[in-house]
Amino acid sequence: MTESSTTSSPSRTPGTAPGMVIIGGGLTGATAAETLRKEGYAGAVTIVADEPEIPYQRPPLSKGFLAGKEGEDALLPYPAAWYPENNVTVLTGTAATGVDPAAHTVTLAGGDTLAYEKLLIATGATPRIIPFPGVDLDGVHYFRSKADSLAMKELLSAGGHNVVMIGSGWIGMEIAATARELGNTVTLLGLEEVPLSVAIGKELGAVFAARHEEAGVKFVLPSSAAEIQGTDGKVTSVLTTTGETIPADLVVVAIGVVPNIGLAKDAGLVINNGIEVTGGLQTSDPDIFAAGDVANSLHPVTGQFARSEHWANAIASGKVAAKSMLGQDAELNDIPYFYTDQFDLGMEYSGFGALTKDAELVIRGSLEKREFIAFWVLEGKVVAGMNVNVWDVQDAIKDLIGSGRTVEAAKLADPQTPLETI
Ligand SMILES: Cc1cc2nc3c(=O)[nH]c(=O)nc-3n(C[C@H](O)[C@H](O)[C@H](O)COP(=O)(O)OP(=O)(O)OC[C@H]3O[C@@H](n4cnc5c(N)ncnc54)[C@H](O)[C@@H]3O)c2cc1C
Repeated sequence: MTESSTTSSPSRTPGTAPGMVIIGGGLTGATAAETLRKEGYAGAVTIVADEPEIPYQRPPLSKGFLAGKEGEDALLPYPAAWYPENNVTVLTGTAATGVDPAAHTVTLAGGDTLAYEKLLIATGATPRIIPFPGVDLDGVHYFRSKADSLAMKELLSAGGHNVVMIGSGWIGMEIAATARELGNTVTLLGLEEVPLSVAIGKELGAVFAARHEEAGVKFVLPSSAAEIQGTDGKVTSVLTTTGETIPADLVVVAIGVVPNIGLAKDAGLVINNGIEVTGGLQTSDPDIFAAGDVANSLHPVTGQFARSEHWANAIASGKVAAKSMLGQDAELNDIPYFYTDQFDLGMEYSGFGALTKDAELVIRGSLEKREFIAFWVLEGKVVAGMNVNVWDVQDAIKDLIGSGRTVEAAKLADPQTPLETI
């Protein structure tokens, strides 16, 4: 176990006085720790982090950091010095292996126990693994961590590789774009007819697909890998389910993630597509909270449970969880938000994806020029909005969604009508 904080406070030593314990050193865990201090909590705060690094954020891993345009600083929500300065202990390289709700303890790999007053589980998610034949060959990669990004960066930055991406969601498309920009041949397989269509529909997914094709990315859609083929233990090609053999010396599998629920399940907490939590992010145990990618929370607006796998949710839910741990009346009621960057396409999305299925799509701007705002309108109300290469409109989009006011589609589509007046 490595302690990143150098304080000598005895309450930080595993097995002694309880304080706030956070399992998971991702953006959610770090934000929760910061919020505990900001809200004036003076007791011990310990983050149990199984990765070797202090908390970092993941979005740059498939974008600027992978492309070599951004350095380590872009990854850190709080600089290394912040933790000791704020008396927050980060036990890096340390996995939590068990939670005992009755005893209020967390067991650590190696056998130490850590007592808690309140516990936050922020264990995030792990790439979904499908046992394609050949998935163990050298050259086949999953992508989640800084270590994954560094390994991939070293390979891709030289250019000239034949890369096959499996997965046509956001991460697959981002890595495909970065790999292509670094001078590699890229072929992308996915189960959708149009990439990203599960998230934003075919018409808008096609905008991203067209930009990729313009840059030379090839798509084989819909398809998956029937077999990853190799020689001498190294990948050489991918046989698709459509019968094509695509040369490959690098294969990246990005077919979604599964929440890391193991500890919570073993502790007897209610599991429902992640750890089920209230709007205040409390689990079925009153002293245990869950937030970030692992938590499935009840949203007050939709009245539905939703598990968000996005950066903004990590921050928002980390804050709410910390406040709830302190006994404050907090609720995760934010309008979900995420963003992506692919080639010269920058996008931001706010809204309730679950409500867009039967919504009318209204476009303001030009899909051809790739400068537009898309609105999803359900029963006269905006339930989601996405701006592509149009900036400084997120506040107005969120206001349209949050106010729940009835809108006219013609005004939404008219760039001359200020959004604030609709
Ligand atoms: C490559 C990539 C690009 C992304 N890009 C975007 C983007 O552009 N926009 C966007 O909105 N979102 C993006 N996301 C999603 C976003 O990064 C996640 O939603 C966010 O990381 C969730 O934070 P978290 O802290 O809940 O989980 P995580 O970041 O997964 O952190 C959880 C941590 O807990 C650790 N852990 C798990 N189990 C244990 C245990 N038993 N003991 C100790 N530690 C444990 C994990 O190893 C991990 O370090 C991206 C994600 C990836 C992987």
